[in-house]
Parts: sequence; C-alpha cells; structure tokens
Amino acid sequence: MTSHDGFETLAIHAGQEPDPLTGAVVPPIYQVSTFKQDGVGGLRGGYEYSRSANPTRTALEQCLAALEEGTAALAFASGLAAEDALLRTICSPGDHVLIPDDAYGGTYRLFARVLAGWGLSHSVVPMSDLGAVREQLAARPVTVVWAETPTNPLLNIADIRGLARAAHEAGALLVVDNTFASPYLQQPLVLGADAVVHSTTKYLGGHSDVIGGALVVADADLAERVDYVRNSTGGVPGPFDAWLTLRGIKTLAARMDRHCRNAMRVAQMLAEHPAVTEVFYPGLPSHPGHKTAQEQMRAFGGMVSFRVLGGEEVAVRVCGRTRLFTLGESLGGVESLIEYPARMTHASVAGSPLEVPADLVRLSVGIEDCDDLIDDLRQAL
Ligand code: PLP
Repeated sequence: MTSHDGFETLAIHAGQEPDPLTGAVVPPIYQVSTFKQDGVGGLRGGYEYSRSANPTRTALEQCLAALEEGTAALAFASGLAAEDALLRTICSPGDHVLIPDDAYGGTYRLFARVLAGWGLSHSVVPMSDLGAVREQLAARPVTVVWAETPTNPLLNIADIRGLARAAHEAGALLVVDNTFASPYLQQPLVLGADAVVHSTTKYLGGHSDVIGGALVVADADLAERVDYVRNSTGGVPGPFDAWLTLRGIKTLAARMDRHCRNAMRVAQMLAEHPAVTEVFYPGLPSHPGHKTAQEQMRAFGGMVSFRVLGGEEVAVRVCGRTRLFTLGESLGGVESLIEYPARMTHASVAGSPLEVPADLVRLSVGIEDCDDLIDDLRQAL
C-alpha cells in the first residue's frame, strides 16, 4: 500500500496482498497451532506457535494499524482482553487513572471490580468537561486518562485533542475507546491519543458473528510491551475469528455511511415523537457535543439512545414491542438492535457514579430500509 491510499482502499487491501503461494485474493485461514521449524529456531516468516503470532491474525493487525494510522496493532480475543492487557502493561499497583462518568459497563467493571483489587485506583470524571479533567490531573499523579467518545450509552462527546494535551502536560497517557465511531469516522491517534482500543465485535466485524478486540498504538515500543503481556497471558483471537473480522472490515466504510444516514433519520423522528422526552445523538444540533463531534468525526455514527415518557415500565415495554429491532445486547451489526441498558449492557454500573437512567432505551441502528425501521419504532412507541 502507498501512503496516499484512501481509507476504503486500505480496508480492502492493507495486510491482504494475494497469497504468494497460490494467488488466493483473500488471506487464508491459517487454522493451525504450530509451525514446522527448519532446524531449531529456523522459523519461516517468523511463525512458531499461534499464541505468539499467526499469519491470518497478522493480516488483520496490519489492516487495523493502517486504518487507525498507527504504527502497530494487536488483535485480542475480545475488547475487554485488549483493555486488560493494555492496562496491565502501562499501569502498576499504586497508580491512579481517570475514567469516564459514562462508559461501557464492562469497562467500568474491569476498573472497579478487577483492577482495583490489584492496587489500581480511579476517579470518575465527565470526559466532555476539559476543566474537570484538568482539575483531577492537578490533584494527584495520574498514569492514564481513559476516554470513550461517543460514550456508551449516552453518546457524550469528548474533545480528543484537548484531552491529549491535558493528559500529556500532566505526564499521563490518553487511551481512547473508539468502538462507537470506528476508524472510518474518527482516528484518535491522529488527534493525539497514545492508544486506541476497540471491541472489534461491533462495527469492525459488523455482522454480529464474532467476538474480538484490538489495540492500536503510535509507539512501537509500547506495542512490543503489550505484545509481551498478550503472549504471557494468552488473550488472542483464533485464526477464523481474525479472518471474519478482516472480512467485515472490507465493507466498513459502506456500512458506516448507511448506519450514519439511518441513525440521523431515526434520531430526528424520535426528537419529534410525543412519547420521547430526550434523544441522545451527536448529529442533532441540540446535542452539547455536536460541534466537537463535527470537528473530529466524519459523521455521527449509528447509535441512538432516548428516554421515554412513563419511566422504566414503558422503556422495558418498548424494548419488547419492536418487530425489526431485535432485543439484544451488543451493537454495530448490519441488523438493528434495541436494548434496555439499566438491566442489560449496563447492569454492572447499578449503584455506581455511572448508573444509567431507568427510562433509557438504546438503539443500534442497522442498515435496513430506514422507512421500515421508523415504522417499527413508531408502532412500538
Ligand atoms: N468498549 C465498548 C464501547 C463496548 O461497547 C464494549 C462491549 O460492548 C467493549 C468495549 C467490550 O468489548 P467486548 O465485548 O468485545 O469484550
């Protein structure tokens, strides 16, 4: 690939040269655990054992690094495995991290219930408020500022450039979870972040058929250190999972354009619906992060959340009444999903500073015919 190849070209070709042996235009699934050595230590292409490296995984990693404009990418068995390996690499017992006041429930659980037990403390900060972040950074030494933008499930927007500046001035690293945007809509490393994490389970995979995670970094030394931890702890994806993710990535740009268009129309409809009290979508000019989103994102994504009149009971009922929006966790697939965060994806933040409203419904707007999606939501409401 040349340095001026566009995103769509990289998504289809980066790391995916036709197979030199057979000419296969798609990287083969190297479904193998070990590799023949030509004499002790005589590795062909550097491969010895698939926990350490596997050619299908390498293809995925090269593609991800190109899409995020990073130096290196590492693929993992899940988004949380990527987060865990990164944090174990860059933090030590006694360190302090800043985490968002709105984030995926599983990420909060990792910080609050797992890593806290190993001596990693945290403060919860609204990452969309740079002043509040700077105040926390001035209050004590901080190792990592962890941001999600847009956030899950309230679609808050953080200013990545501003956060990177604030974190670096305080000697901290900025990590951005880019799952909701995908590299097609937003490239945090280009905006100054030190590391990007993904649940590739979502838009990158794009078809609700594989669990995976990734980490992309600018600094080759950091990549090597995380790779050491990954190889030591083993949270790697299998070759077929890597292949499915790579296959999904080929259509990422086309899918995202459609997700964004459909989500904008759904958000506009909900904003005018009498049974809806508040809509969270950064594409709406009324959203507090709209301007920042416009500056750092290509478009506003496929996720929409909203609150309903009548509270918890009505929210739960709406989630059970849709025909096309399937009731289920996860997001980012071609099919539309609906869920009730308080008891599903965000059950683990109940009683914490990240607790989500009881009248909240979250949508992952798919790429179906948008008129059908709007009809479905109207009848459910
Ligand atoms: N980050 C975000 C924003 C998510 O929504 C999720 C999962 O829903 C994760 C990370 C964790 O990813 P995984 O489920 O692949 O471990």
